[in-house]
Amino acid sequence: MRYWLSNNDGKTTGPYGLEEIRAFAGSGRLSPAAMACAEGSTEWQPISSVLTAPPTAPVTAGAVMDGACGCCGMMPPKKPKTLYGHTVCKKCYYRFANRRQLAYIVDVIFFTVLSMLVGGVFGAAGALAGMPEDTIELLGTLLGWALFPVFLLKDGFRGTSPGKWLCGVQVLDARTGAPIGAGASFKRNLPLLIPFVGQLIILIQMLKGPRLGDGWAHTKVIWKKYAEQPIFRPSGALA
Ligand SMILES: [Zn+2]
Repeated sequence: MRYWLSNNDGKTTGPYGLEEIRAFAGSGRLSPAAMACAEGSTEWQPISSVLTAPPTAPVTAGAVMDGACGCCGMMPPKKPKTLYGHTVCKKCYYRFANRRQLAYIVDVIFFTVLSMLVGGVFGAAGALAGMPEDTIELLGTLLGWALFPVFLLKDGFRGTSPGKWLCGVQVLDARTGAPIGAGASFKRNLPLLIPFVGQLIILIQMLKGPRLGDGWAHTKVIWKKYAEQPIFRPSGALA
């Protein structure tokens, strides 16, 4: 169970685990009048009632016990890994990364086929219009270049590209939790313009959670199946 804290200065921070809250209280950083609100709840309670709660608080839906896998909730994970700063089991860690990697590969294939179709239609139209062959070829190449930025918009349909839809992952605004639109998609996918290196870095970084581009676009890829777990919840911070 994790709690949001209000230290009587009007600011809400957290969520924190019970251990952290005990540490705050122990170091005197917590006012005795501070209030706490369990994650997923709307009820505020005095901090004293949280501090005196038995250590084995019941697990409610959408909450993860301290130390358990932040995705599947397995307690305790045999070989813990870190994803978005949360502990997850090895299985979830690799399954989530593989979903993101597969989604990317599907998107590349989808986009390649789409470009070929557009190119094919364009070529056929050009031939019908009696355009010389090398003009068609030149315009076709230019068209290919012009289409590439469209690929960067792939996550802009409510955070879901064809590959992401297929793999059950989605891109959200890390602060508000809202699915991203075209602008944020374009921003986070800019590193894909760096041939090979950008794509390779991203495929490796997907393991840790945030990858190149997520920082400046304020985006976060989530596993829809576990969308309610704290690990995939928005930060709420607008910094
Ligand atoms: Zn797990």
